[in-house]
Amino acid sequence: MDVREKLNILSAAAKYDVSCTSSGSRRSAPPRGLGDACPAGICHTWSSDGRCISLLKILLSNACKYDCAYCANRRSNDIPRATFTPKEVIDLTLEFYRRNYIEGLFLSSAVVGSPDATMERLVKVVKELRTVHRFGGYIHLKSIPGASEKLLHEAGLYADRTSVNIEVPSERSLTYLAPEKNYASVYAPMNYFAERKIEYGGSRGRYTPNFLPAGQSTQMIVGASGETDFQILTLSAGFYRQQRLKRVYFSGYVPVNADKRLPALTTKPPLLREHRLYQADWLMRFYKFDYDEILDAKHPNLDLNLDPKAGWALRHPEFFPVDLQTADYEMILRVPGIGVKSAQLIVSSRRYCKIRLETLKKMGVVLKRAKYFIYHPDIPAGVRQFYPEMIRPLLLAPSKTQQLDLFDSTPLLLPSAPATTNSLPSVFPSTNVIPAKAGISLPKPHLLAAG
Ligand code: SF4
Repeated sequence: MDVREKLNILSAAAKYDVSCTSSGSRRSAPPRGLGDACPAGICHTWSSDGRCISLLKILLSNACKYDCAYCANRRSNDIPRATFTPKEVIDLTLEFYRRNYIEGLFLSSAVVGSPDATMERLVKVVKELRTVHRFGGYIHLKSIPGASEKLLHEAGLYADRTSVNIEVPSERSLTYLAPEKNYASVYAPMNYFAERKIEYGGSRGRYTPNFLPAGQSTQMIVGASGETDFQILTLSAGFYRQQRLKRVYFSGYVPVNADKRLPALTTKPPLLREHRLYQADWLMRFYKFDYDEILDAKHPNLDLNLDPKAGWALRHPEFFPVDLQTADYEMILRVPGIGVKSAQLIVSSRRYCKIRLETLKKMGVVLKRAKYFIYHPDIPAGVRQFYPEMIRPLLLAPSKTQQLDLFDSTPLLLPSAPATTNSLPSVFPSTNVIPAKAGISLPKPHLLAAG
């Protein structure tokens, strides 16, 4: 199999891993080196299906020894398999970078052989890119659960960001859907990186390594198991606090395998739920909300018809209306229709003058939402009365825009391999290709997760 064929298979295999933002890195070009993530940052572009494509985003291998129910790379699926050598990945990265196709690399892998064997190959790629080729571009490297601390340490020295995917939002469901995985092996690399970040972050001496400058992230699949949004947000909040993750990504479950443990194949990806979770995540990261303010045991799921901030405001009429002339910054942030920048502008300008409605509009406040939640003498008295049951239908006014469908409406069913094909190679052979079952031509592979 030539490199082009491998690239087709392994770039498609990485498509549904969404934990790949490239922001936050401050690595500058080494002397006489190549690439620089610092001055230009990494430009994000988005493919037609909404995913980031500014990085060369590939798997090192999709020949996985595990059999996670939700993943198209699982060993029991009869799909084309391929594995890059480290040199092939290095050459591709450098050539693509020189042609200005990419600004960095997102490298993940299925588990081939053992976690350490896989991680060793991944680390070899980044280490050679940095030390031999003096590559200064952005690198996001997946960490393989179960890999040794020595390899994790090397990954942290050379990559900008790393991620290890938790995949399923509860250990019980993970054990059910991916019996060969457990939470301990996923938390171990996260905890290791978090501790090293603290250790190296304290002193910025000349010889202190620039350890994972863009931090860590993870991804959760939403809708493959029965966890509530409250459970998902609780887990996310824990990652932000304890493991100091930069981002938690949510990936609406895309059915690719016929498996009785999973929702039916006719199920559509829960994209609206994914979107609401991202909004709630935003509230936790930028609006000073705690996860248990957004949801609680009585309200375990986000309202799909209403954004989480408006939902919180309607459940807490005791805080409204808010007088923008006197309220705390934190309270202004909680008003639906007011963003971080607008709240800052309100606080900095109200010292000098009374804030007019026109000024609020210029500050970016969405008045058609905010007017129900703020006190302002120019807002008619009828609107100023805060009755949640009356406001809710007004906020639900039908939208003229429709969310684009990221996926084909018909789910793809990947063929299962006959029982004999689960003896995948235990090490990396030079051409470890398992041919697709005769007579089955796969449409574009819908692959979900790796590592
Ligand atoms: S999720 Fe990762 S470990 Fe599980 S089957 Fe897919 S590639 Fe293998």
